Amino acid sequence: MTATLQGFILTPQGFVAGTLAIDGAGRVQAIQGTPATEAEVRNESKADRPIILPGFIDLHVHGAAGRDVMEGGDAAVQIARRHARHGTTCLLATTMTAPVEDLEQALAGLGGLCRQRAPQAARVLGVHLEGPFISAARLGAQPDFARPVRLEEIQRLQELAPIRLVTIAPEVPGNLEAIGHLVAAGIRVQIGHTQGTYEDGVAALERGARGFTHLFNAMTPLHHRLPGMVGAALAHAEYAELIPDLLHVHPGAIRVALRAIPCAYCVTDSTSATGMPDGEYKLGRQPVTKCLGGVRLADGTLAGSTLTMDRALRNLVDTMGLPLADASRRTAAHAADFLALADRGRLAPGAWADAVVLDRDLQLQAVHVEGEAIELAHAA
Ligand SMILES: [Zn+2]
Repeated sequence: MTATLQGFILTPQGFVAGTLAIDGAGRVQAIQGTPATEAEVRNESKADRPIILPGFIDLHVHGAAGRDVMEGGDAAVQIARRHARHGTTCLLATTMTAPVEDLEQALAGLGGLCRQRAPQAARVLGVHLEGPFISAARLGAQPDFARPVRLEEIQRLQELAPIRLVTIAPEVPGNLEAIGHLVAAGIRVQIGHTQGTYEDGVAALERGARGFTHLFNAMTPLHHRLPGMVGAALAHAEYAELIPDLLHVHPGAIRVALRAIPCAYCVTDSTSATGMPDGEYKLGRQPVTKCLGGVRLADGTLAGSTLTMDRALRNLVDTMGLPLADASRRTAAHAADFLALADRGRLAPGAWADAVVLDRDLQLQAVHVEGEAIELAHAA
């Protein structure tokens, strides 16, 4: 199997008007063409010369299409298929704060899918444990099963499916000390759902935590005499998640983060209600309501999103005015770099042929996951 894509291709060196060849193993074989400016790309892209960007990488996915990662079984296959139709080529299946039996059930259902990608689906790179090692005072929409890190528990879960990322609240007793062990085991640590101070944040970064989970949401805000966890992130972080659905974070606050944090990247925090009509859904075991694009608990707390990565890109470019190349890095390359994946998140010879093909309005025309063309006909 070999294929070629033609258009304005975004490479690490900039746009090229030309051809991207995919080899039989699903990798980029070669990119040939002539350099093009972003202005040329936006003005001259059309059906016969579309825009080709690295496929989106989403490190925070709870669900889609009525299914939740916590269901275990085949739920994650359906979730990975639905997100692939929105241009996501790699994702981390993200679990909720839950009793350990529920986490074991979820991870047992994910192990096979992490080893072997399902046809027509995004690559599931592994698991993001969003809790239970968080603060009971900053649950957001997480149910109240928060508890300190137990390394034996993570080790047992790790045998079921590869854990790539763990969200923790560093101020919870014992959690700070656990960071070094997690990092040594090859797991990324992200600070989130936290009541911690600026100093707690700095101490966690010094121990090896690298990122922040949905920056601004469910963490202590910045005050000029009490800079909080948001202050620690803006002052020191290289990486942080942002949810650019324009509901979770004001566009002005997103701009602050983009100026301060060099490799801030987009996630969806998408729930089972993603790609579904307004109505009642579940986030983990909790009932949530989808209405007007938002997903909320009965008390009005935002409970994840219905965002997809193609919309995240359009929000960054169309609403916030980011250059396309920068928006692309924040939907692909930075997340790949956070996980140290050199052959994802960029279109270059030898990298996986994970790509999205977009028209002039940044609507998806085609998606390729490891060289496989994804059927978009039923996309919601
Ligand atoms: Zn989440």
